[in-house]
Amino acid sequence: MNAIVPFPQLDIPHTIAAGPGPGNTDARVLARFAGAGLADHMHPDVLRGMVECKKMLRDVMGTQNTYTYGVAGTGWSGLDVMFAGVMPGDKVVMFVNGTFSGIDGLTVRMKAATAEELEANSLDPQAASVTIINVPHGQSVTGEIVEAALAEHKPKWAAMAHWETGSGRINDIRGFSDACVKHGAMGLVDAVSSLGVEDFAIDDYPGVHGWASCPQKGICCLPLTYAPVSFTDQFIETLKATGTRTFVHHPILEARHWGIIDGQDVEKGTYHRTHSAYAVAAFHEALRITLQESIAQRAKDYAFHEAALRAAVTAMGCDVTSNMTSLIVLNLPPALAGREMELVQHCRAQNFGIWPTLSEPVQVRIGILNLLNQSTISDIATRFATAITDLGGQVDMDAVEGALNEHYLAAMAAQ
Ligand SMILES: *Cc1c(COP(=O)(O)O)cnc(C)c1O
Repeated sequence: MNAIVPFPQLDIPHTIAAGPGPGNTDARVLARFAGAGLADHMHPDVLRGMVECKKMLRDVMGTQNTYTYGVAGTGWSGLDVMFAGVMPGDKVVMFVNGTFSGIDGLTVRMKAATAEELEANSLDPQAASVTIINVPHGQSVTGEIVEAALAEHKPKWAAMAHWETGSGRINDIRGFSDACVKHGAMGLVDAVSSLGVEDFAIDDYPGVHGWASCPQKGICCLPLTYAPVSFTDQFIETLKATGTRTFVHHPILEARHWGIIDGQDVEKGTYHRTHSAYAVAAFHEALRITLQESIAQRAKDYAFHEAALRAAVTAMGCDVTSNMTSLIVLNLPPALAGREMELVQHCRAQNFGIWPTLSEPVQVRIGILNLLNQSTISDIATRFATAITDLGGQVDMDAVEGALNEHYLAAMAAQ
């Protein structure tokens, strides 16, 4: 007799993931994921794939750091490995200008809190050794802000998000790195949103000793595969001296499965935890695609298509406040102010997956991760314009089409 299955097979419809992330997984990545055989995590081809991923990741990140590898999970998993360097009582200055750097700040306070501080408010500890510098939503963290704070506090660690996805703002990584070098702080950077979108090499920022990103934004892999991380030798030596209270997210131990043992590359990894052959195959293909297209070309493509979408929404009367090239954060035309959530829900109900901001003030976020072609950008603009008119707003569709055409025709003429 068959047992009764309480639910039918789960079907999830096709949507346009036009938000801050996850991005649209590349079809080649999905094919490698589904095409992986039943190889176990210690199979030679899986171990070889992990070593190849490690080498490709060094190229993608622009680094010679031996400790460069993927952490199983999402962006927060990689960030947890990076912040594992922060020990109770460590002096840290954290720059916060939106939702994600805000959560990084919470992570830092949890790691740096003493036992007493953690017990006093375990879900939101106030650690006396951590200084949070709040920069208003919609503004960037500047080099001057970092310089002033590090000069005053002289911390062991300084941390910020490279691109703050909550408000769509790019922070000054050059100024951050310079101030870290000048004041002897070890910089830690949340590069979840920038890796694979912006053209930069982490080795050009010597003040930054730890970097963490994610699989599903600029790298175009599946969520819950591998979050890229990279650490300098100084980070690793510092961590070795203090230790850290985790096995699975230990920056040194976690590296072993990727063939990094005692600071050296070895031919194949050793067991740390059960890795997924499917995830390794997907990550491997995502990195191959990234290198094939090249980081420089991708960065150009993002800037080009973001400008087109920006022109289109501006022609709709929206006010864009972001400066990231993968994401537009905007205020609706004055007549629709206050109806941002309603508009976003209306779009999402039609499988057009845009997002609101997750912290105040409420704004609309439209992303273009792995949506880099004229027809998709035009489709996004048309859907957004339709949603505005559905809510009773006025859109001059000719002006919107004109803005898009002008942008794309000018590019064609320039070729
Ligand atoms: C998306 C994001 C995160 C969180 O990544 P998950 O993959 O959801 O864990 C952290 N920081 C920044 C800057 C992000 O954009």
